[in-house]
Amino acid sequence: MSSGSAGGVEGSIREAVDAIRRAPTIALACHVSPDGDALGSMLGLYHVLRADGRDVLASFPTPFVVAPHYRELPGLDVLTPPDEFPREPDVMVTFDCGSLGRLGDLEPAATAARELVVIDHHISNDRYGTINAIDPEAAASGSLVHRIVRELGLPLNRDAAVCLYAALVCDTGRFQYETTTPAVFGMARELVQHDVPVSRLSRTLFEEHRFAYLKLLSDALAHAELVPQRRFVWTAVTQADLRKHDVQIEEVEGLIDILRRTMEAEVTCVLKEEADGSVRVSLRSLGEVDVRMIAEVEGGGGHRFAAGFSSTDGIDDVVARIEAALPVTT
Ligand code: MN
Repeated sequence: MSSGSAGGVEGSIREAVDAIRRAPTIALACHVSPDGDALGSMLGLYHVLRADGRDVLASFPTPFVVAPHYRELPGLDVLTPPDEFPREPDVMVTFDCGSLGRLGDLEPAATAARELVVIDHHISNDRYGTINAIDPEAAASGSLVHRIVRELGLPLNRDAAVCLYAALVCDTGRFQYETTTPAVFGMARELVQHDVPVSRLSRTLFEEHRFAYLKLLSDALAHAELVPQRRFVWTAVTQADLRKHDVQIEEVEGLIDILRRTMEAEVTCVLKEEADGSVRVSLRSLGEVDVRMIAEVEGGGGHRFAAGFSSTDGIDDVVARIEAALPVTT
């Protein structure tokens, strides 16, 4: 738990660069149910290494489904299904993935890898790699990949720039979160010089949805509950809701960004019932409450502003526990 110092981060980035440079083959993986930063950071490095003629593949755990709003990311068509991932990779690199458990069915490969490079910015990261390039100060895992590419001395290309831009724009909430520093704009400036379709990406990543999703959204907002004394707002999406509107669970990722607009709430929560009956819980905070603490108690992780976990308990039980963990406002 002592990666806080800048020197530690720089040293581990150098080790990561050396390991990647020397690897005969490189197997990349990001966390289950990948978001824009997970996919973007992984594919960003993939495109740079591929252009350099390296033997590289990229994957993520089952369910092997990408949320539709990431459809403009170059390289989704070349991803390797998890059952074709090498069982004993020589060098494996993970992206945006705070724990071995988040690698799902790719966890055995990570455990068997000769060298396991972990690239992440979650302060809750378990440091499960042989090399842990973890910088909680980084706005996105994509920012770390950007530094690694520069240290590798390899050129960015358009596909890599699009992916890294997506990572950055997603994890900074379109350059609106607290993590949006001058360095973030510096990186964005460099990336967009590679012909990144900024406007098109904004539309597909954040705005465009099937009409069926808007109808589901309407139900989810109608069922939302505000607990003013805890400054807490939440809603849930069940398998029945998904069936009713013919919407896939991956499409519902952006719901929390709408619910968190609630002025009376410090903490926002969206619970999604998975096909197996378990509940996927997403938490957002304005910063007064550290939602990572709540997620960690439940076996999950994240940051102060955004965290999550899974539970096999019922929605009402999970909500009651979160509510109880929040301070009462006077
Ligand atoms: Mn991230």
